Amino acid sequence: MTHQIAVIPGDGIGQEVTPAAVDVLEALSPDFEFVEGDAGDAVKAETGEALPQDTRDIAANSDATLFGAAGETAADVILPLRDVVGSFANVRPAVSYPGLDAVQPDTDIVFIRENTEGVYSGIESEIADGVTTLTRVVTEDASRDIAEFGFDYAAANGYDDVTVAHKANVMRETDGLFLETAEAVAEGRDAAYDTALMDALAMHLVMHPEEYGVVICPNLAGDMLSDLAAGLVGGLGLLPSANVGSENALFEPVHGSAPDIAGKGIANPSAMILSAAMLLDHLGYGDEADRVRAAVEGVLDEGPRTPDLGGDATTSDVTEAVIDRL
Ligand code: ATP
Repeated sequence: MTHQIAVIPGDGIGQEVTPAAVDVLEALSPDFEFVEGDAGDAVKAETGEALPQDTRDIAANSDATLFGAAGETAADVILPLRDVVGSFANVRPAVSYPGLDAVQPDTDIVFIRENTEGVYSGIESEIADGVTTLTRVVTEDASRDIAEFGFDYAAANGYDDVTVAHKANVMRETDGLFLETAEAVAEGRDAAYDTALMDALAMHLVMHPEEYGVVICPNLAGDMLSDLAAGLVGGLGLLPSANVGSENALFEPVHGSAPDIAGKGIANPSAMILSAAMLLDHLGYGDEADRVRAAVEGVLDEGPRTPDLGGDATTSDVTEAVIDRL
């Protein structure tokens, strides 16, 4: 069966790492047909729209989407794109690899981030000169969906430790509901879990990441804690992610467009290639996904490495090395 894959490189290093991931997928030759769409700053400057309708349609009508990064227009691109694919869960694994000089070499944590509401609901206003407000939306339905997804993910992927992150002692209504709903889900299935205040959790993750497995988070907390974990394992060039919906999904690196290194050909393609591995898993190509992860792991261990990991290799050197191992 042929799968149609939408490819949306976007801005900055998205233009460099997305083709690298497509090359890796092509080297494996599953039955994929790639359809490219434009999004981001450059297309906005040209057409006035950061996410043209054509691109939305390509993502909506594909079996999965590979997305690179968006720059200034990120909120106008990735938030609606996540909506187009109906994504409610953002899966962000932070894993340390052998051979890298990571701050915490014993890290294997998957952040399961609520992806539709919280402080990213987009309800902001200036109510008076110099006074702004933001509405934080938390619903029982979305909290239940993300908790169920998180506990299912832990069970399916062999993680014994599940932690629910919250700040219910201060945000009593919103995180109170998030926590209470997640606890009801856990108790309903007799699953073991812990809860943690998200600020204290940030400290514990830095000091003892080996104590954590799956961490279920409200939207903003998941965004921040996963970037923090990126720092523990070797940087943003290593973290992939999946935006999962009930019928469609979008895969993207956790990093952004990295304007400081864009155009230099030195971006680390690992996060994007590992995102492609998550896409393979999602479409039922588990063996191929494992082969990609093993190839990336081998290259991270033995080189070549891009400058963010202390090497002097280019994006294409690393991509070719991954493909050679495949
Ligand atoms: P944006 O606003 O698009 O999110 P940003 O620069 O604020 O862009 P990132 O793009 O995530 O945020 O980059 C943060 C830092 O991490 C930058 O110094 C960037 O060079 C580095 N970085 C991010 N991704 C990579 C990568 N794939 N390879 C090497 N360095 C990276």
